[in-house]
Amino acid sequence: MRSPTRTTPPEFVLAGCRLIDGVSDSPLENHYVEVRHGKVVASGPVAKAPKDKGVHHYDCQGRTVMPGLIDCHVHMVYAGAKNMEEAMRFPVEAAVINAVIHARAILNAGFTAVREVGTIGNTSVAMRDAVAARKIYGPKVVASGRGIGTTGSGNDVLPPHWESTAGRLVVDGVDAIRKAVRRQTREGVDNIKFIASGGEFHPTNYTWMTTISEEELRAGIEEAKRWGKTVAVHAQSYDSVKFALRAGADTIEHGTRLDEESIELFRKSKAFLVPTLCTLYSVLNLGEKLGLSKKQRDEMKVNQPLWEASIRAAHAAGVQIASGGDLGNRMPHGDNAVELEYLTTLGIPAMEVLKAATSVAARAIGRGDRFGSVKPGLEADLLVVDGDPLADMRVLQEEARLNMVFQDGEMVAGTEWKSPQDETDSIRPPREEAAAPACEAHQH
Ligand SMILES: [Zn+2]
Repeated sequence: MRSPTRTTPPEFVLAGCRLIDGVSDSPLENHYVEVRHGKVVASGPVAKAPKDKGVHHYDCQGRTVMPGLIDCHVHMVYAGAKNMEEAMRFPVEAAVINAVIHARAILNAGFTAVREVGTIGNTSVAMRDAVAARKIYGPKVVASGRGIGTTGSGNDVLPPHWESTAGRLVVDGVDAIRKAVRRQTREGVDNIKFIASGGEFHPTNYTWMTTISEEELRAGIEEAKRWGKTVAVHAQSYDSVKFALRAGADTIEHGTRLDEESIELFRKSKAFLVPTLCTLYSVLNLGEKLGLSKKQRDEMKVNQPLWEASIRAAHAAGVQIASGGDLGNRMPHGDNAVELEYLTTLGIPAMEVLKAATSVAARAIGRGDRFGSVKPGLEADLLVVDGDPLADMRVLQEEARLNMVFQDGEMVAGTEWKSPQDETDSIRPPREEAAAPACEAHQH
C-alpha cells in the first residue's frame, strides 16, 4: 500500500524573495508569497508576511520566486527523432510511454503547464487526464489531438505507399476537415491544431508552400470555434499566416514568414505568435551532427534571416508573443527553457520573455484565469530559483538552480523536493486527506 508521503505543508509562505509575478514590469524585492490549500492567497513586502502558527516558512532570501513556466508548443510523444517521418514510426503504445517519461523531464525543468499541439493517437488527452487525476507527475496539459493537414502537407510525411492510423491526420476538403474537428471534440481535446504550410523536415514540400486552401482552413477554424475549442496553426508561409489570422486562429506557430499585411492582421486580432526558435536553431546547430537531410539544413539557412526578421518585426509592432519550444525532435524534452534564451537573443527584453513564458503563455493557451501569474486566487504553480533570470536567462536551464517547483501548492520537483519513499519518480502518491487517520482508526 502506498504510504502518505506528501511532505509539502498545506499552508506556507515563500519569504524574503525577489518576486517576479509574471505581470509587473519590475521585480519586487524582499517580498513574500502566501499559499494556502493549493492557491496563492497573498503577496507583499516580507514585513507583512503572516506569522500564524502552523504556516510553514521557506526562507527564500537571495532567491527568485516566479510563476511556473509554460511551454505553448510541445509534442510529448516525440522521442529524439531526427525528423517527422522518424517520429511517426512510433506506434501509439510507445508514444504513451515516451510521453509519461517526458512529462517528468518537463516538470523537472520548471515547466508546470504545457500545450500539446499534435500527438500520436489521442495521447495528449490521456496525459492531461492522468496529470489532473494525479496518476503521474507532469505539467498540466492543454490537449490537442493529431494535427490536421491535407495530402502532401507537413502532416503527410510517410512514404506515399505507407498508411498510418495513429500518426498525423491527412484529410482534404471542407467536409472532411469539419468531420476531423468534430471527431476530435468527441475525443475530448481542448485545442485543434491545423497544418497550413509545409515544413523543412518534409521530403517534398517546403516551408514557403501553403498546403491548405483558405476555404478549408476557414471551415476548420469555424468548426473548432463552434465547439468552443482554441486553434493553433502551423504557419511558415506568408499566406498560411494570413489565412489563419483572417479566420480567427488563437495562435500562429512558427511565424517564419510575416509581412506588413500579416502583422497588421495580428494587430487587429487577439492572436498570439509562438516563434518556436528551438526548431530553427536546432536544425542549424545540430543538423550536420544528427545527419539531417541536406534539404532540411539548406532550407533552414534560407529561413533563418526571414524568421529572425519576422519575430523582430512582430515584437516591434506589439504582437503578443508566447513562448513555445517545439522540443522532442533534435533537442530533448527538459531543455524547454532554452527557448527563453533564444527569445532574448532576438532583442526581446528579459522581463517580456519571462511574461511570454508565464502570464502571456497562460492567456495564449486559454488558462490565464487559472495560472501563469502570482496573484491571489490563482493556482499556486511556482518556482523558487537560485539566481536571477532577469540578469541571466540561462539560470532557468540549470536544474541545480531550480530549488523548488510547486504545482497547486505542492512541491513536485526541484533540488529541495524529496521523492516519496516507496514511489517511483513518475507515479504520484495519493492526496493526503486531513480526515484520513481518524477514519482509519475508526475502522479497527
Ligand atoms: Zn510542433
